[in-house]
Amino acid sequence: MPDHDVIIVGARVAGAATAMLLARQGLRVLLVDRDRYGTDTLSTHALMRGGVFLLSRWGVLDRVTEAGTPPIRRTRFDFGTDAVSIDIKPAHDVDALYAPRRTLLDRALVDAAEAAGAEIRYGLSVTGLLRDGSGRIVGIRGRDRAGAALTARARLTVGADGTRSIVGREAGATTLRTGTGSGAIVYGYWSELRADGYEWFYRPGSSAGIIPTNDGEACVFAGVPAHRLDRGDLRATYHHLLAVTTGGAEGRLAQARPPSRLRTWVGRPGYIRQSHGPGWALVGDAGSFLDPLSTHGITDALRDAEILARCLTRAGTFDNLGDYAAARARATSATFDVVDRIAGYGWDLPQLRTRLLELSSAMSTELELVTKC
Ligand SMILES: Cc1cc2nc3c(=O)[nH]c(=O)nc-3n(C[C@H](O)[C@H](O)[C@H](O)COP(=O)(O)OP(=O)(O)OC[C@H]3O[C@@H](n4cnc5c(N)ncnc54)[C@H](O)[C@@H]3O)c2cc1C
Repeated sequence: MPDHDVIIVGARVAGAATAMLLARQGLRVLLVDRDRYGTDTLSTHALMRGGVFLLSRWGVLDRVTEAGTPPIRRTRFDFGTDAVSIDIKPAHDVDALYAPRRTLLDRALVDAAEAAGAEIRYGLSVTGLLRDGSGRIVGIRGRDRAGAALTARARLTVGADGTRSIVGREAGATTLRTGTGSGAIVYGYWSELRADGYEWFYRPGSSAGIIPTNDGEACVFAGVPAHRLDRGDLRATYHHLLAVTTGGAEGRLAQARPPSRLRTWVGRPGYIRQSHGPGWALVGDAGSFLDPLSTHGITDALRDAEILARCLTRAGTFDNLGDYAAARARATSATFDVVDRIAGYGWDLPQLRTRLLELSSAMSTELELVTKC
C-alpha cells in the first residue's frame, strides 16, 4: 500500500486547491513545496469571474473578503482615443471580482487544505519521481532543507509545480501546443492611488493595468513585447511606459505614492502540456500557461483543481483521467490562441478590440464549463 492516495507537488493556487478538494473527499493527501508557508510570488493576482466563482463554491471567498480585499465592480478598457467601462453583472453567485495578494490567497487555500485533512510539508524539494516495474509513476523523491533524502509513495502524483514543473519533465509530459507571443511585465504596488475597479490600458506596442488590492494599495503593471523590455534602468522604463500607455491616468499617478520596489517578468510563450499519464497529472501552470497579460492563470489553476477533483470522484479510480484531459482541452482551446495573439502585441487598436471580445467569449465558455462541472 502506498503511504498516500495522492501526492501534490507545489502548494500554491493549483496545488493547495487540488489538495483541499481531494482531502474533502476523504483521500489521504500529501501536499509538498520547497518554499515556505505564506510567501509572495510573481503575480499581479487579478481574479476573473471563474476564479471568484470557485472560491465562493469552496467556501474560501469569505477569507478573501474578510481580509478587506476591495470588491471590483467595474472593468475599464482605455484605448487612448476612447474608453469603455463595463459593470460586473451579478451572475453565478458572483457580484464582484477580487485581486487578493498571493500572501493571502495561497495561505487561505493551504489552510483550507489542512483543515480538510491534507498533510502539508514545506521546505521539501522534489528531485525526481519513483516508477514501478511497468514505468508507472508511484511517488516522489526529494530532499528537505537539512539535505536529508526521502521518498513518498502514492497512487497519483500531481504536478502543481509551476512552469518549470519537475513532475511534467520527469513524467515525460509532451508539449501539445507552444505559443509565439510573449510579453514582459514590470509591476509594483502604489498607495493613495484612486482606482475604480480594474483598469486596462492598451496602446500599439504597450499595455498597462491598475488592479486594486489589499491594504489600500493598487498593483500597477506596464507591459511590452518581451524582446523590447529595456532592463537597463528599470524604474525609468516603468515610469516611461506608464506615461506613454496611461497618459498618467488623468493625473492620478502623479498624486499617488509610487512603489519602492519593482518586480519584473521577462516573458515566455504560452504552452499546453499533456495533462496526465499513468500515475500522474498536471494542474495549473505545470500543465498549461497563458501569458500574464490575460490575467487568467490563477482562474485556470483553480479550474484545473476543480475538474481534476470532480473527474477523480466520478471515475472512482486513479486510472481514468480522460475526462480531465477532455474538459481541460475544451477550456484551454477557447483561450489559448486569442491570448497568444494579444500577448504578441502584433495588433492595432481595432484588431485588439476584436481580440478582447474573443477573449471575453472564451472566458464565458470556460465559466460555463466550471459552473456545470
Ligand atoms: C508577472 C505575472 C503576472 C501575473 N498576473 C496574473 C493575474 O493578474 N491574474 C492571474 O490569474 N494570473 C496571473 N499570473 C499567472 C499566475 O500567477 C499563475 O498562473 C499562478 O501562479 C499559477 O499557480 P500554480 O499554483 O500553478 O503555480 P505556482 O504559483 O508557480 O506555484 C508552484 C509551486 O510549486 C513549487 N515547486 C516548484 N518546483 C518544486 C519542486 N521541485 N519541489 C517542491 N516544490 C516545487 C514552488 O515553490 C511553487 O510554490 C501572473 C503571472 C506572472 C508571471
